Amino acid sequence: MEPKPHMLNLSQADLQALLQEWGEPAYRARQIYRHLYVNLATDPAAMTDLPKALRERLTTDVDWAGLRLQRTLSCDDGLTRKALFSVSTGAPAESVLMVYPDRATVCVSSQSGCLMRCTFCATGRLGLLGQLTTGQIVEQVLWAERELRSMRERPPSHDQVHLLTNVVFMGMGEPFNNYDAWWAAVERLHDPQGFNMGARNFTVSTVGLVPGIRRLAAATLPVNLAISLHAPNDALRSSLMPVNKAFPIADLLAATRDYIAKTRRRVSFEYVLLEGKNDLPAHAEELATLLRSQYPPDQTMLFHVNLIPWNPVPGAPLERSHRARVLAFQDILEARRVPCTVRVERGSEIAAACGQLAGMAQDEAATTPAE
Ligand code: SF4
Repeated sequence: MEPKPHMLNLSQADLQALLQEWGEPAYRARQIYRHLYVNLATDPAAMTDLPKALRERLTTDVDWAGLRLQRTLSCDDGLTRKALFSVSTGAPAESVLMVYPDRATVCVSSQSGCLMRCTFCATGRLGLLGQLTTGQIVEQVLWAERELRSMRERPPSHDQVHLLTNVVFMGMGEPFNNYDAWWAAVERLHDPQGFNMGARNFTVSTVGLVPGIRRLAAATLPVNLAISLHAPNDALRSSLMPVNKAFPIADLLAATRDYIAKTRRRVSFEYVLLEGKNDLPAHAEELATLLRSQYPPDQTMLFHVNLIPWNPVPGAPLERSHRARVLAFQDILEARRVPCTVRVERGSEIAAACGQLAGMAQDEAATTPAE
């Protein structure tokens, strides 16, 4: 027997084709699509403008089982919320919703765990546990939007919060290692007939997979690109990020230069600061020299460095940079005319760095005696 299609894995065209097979008129697909991505319905029973027989068939012939919400944690007066989900195999996926005065951002996972094994990352310690489907990636964003809508329904504390303005793919996993499913999720969420998120409101972060950067340069939607650099030379970067052995800095920056030349879009370089490892003044000077050598003086607007205070990962033999070091690093970059900012921290007390909650859940499972 053919497995049932999962509702959130169906594009609007797939949904139309399915309903056509069932002998339904085309406008029914548009109705259902609006229920899913505008009204955020999770169940055909809520689609009361559909005939009862169609609602029943949608219930029996389509898979609606979503991500299972295992745990949510919140801090910052409820303005930072982290969700730990599990997929049907039990593998975890994490999302973090961050509400600011002028925007609301959700950080979502594109894989369960990650193959890349960056030394400073809790997710890297889990290894790759599974790929997420398009529907599972999309569902994390819909969760965030539902959270925001329910906050607005509870005045007066949060009735001024924004609905979702930004989606960043910086949760578990490397999006370019699950490119097709990830890109289909972007297209789905962008669809003006559904969720209607502007293309420039998406940011994808990559560990530096050159084929993915080249593929994105040719993509039709202008999503933002962030590149995890984290070191100014190959020896240091390889010690922090094994992927650097496959895609060293020169190759990565060449692909980034081509990407900028083709798209004229600004790229962010992410740089997580680790005490004594990559945060010394000499590292800042080396980073400035490296980046300035890549771009002519009139192109300073086309890149930007995002300095990130590290969210400590239990058991990792690393330390978070002291605040003075972070500011000194920033000063050196700015003096060398490298545009940079220090990322605002949210949610460190709820293990907001990707993979931390899943790692904690794994540790708890490992230390809880079987009943
Ligand atoms: S930092 Fe990103 S790419 Fe590296 S191990 Fe963690 S999730 Fe994977």
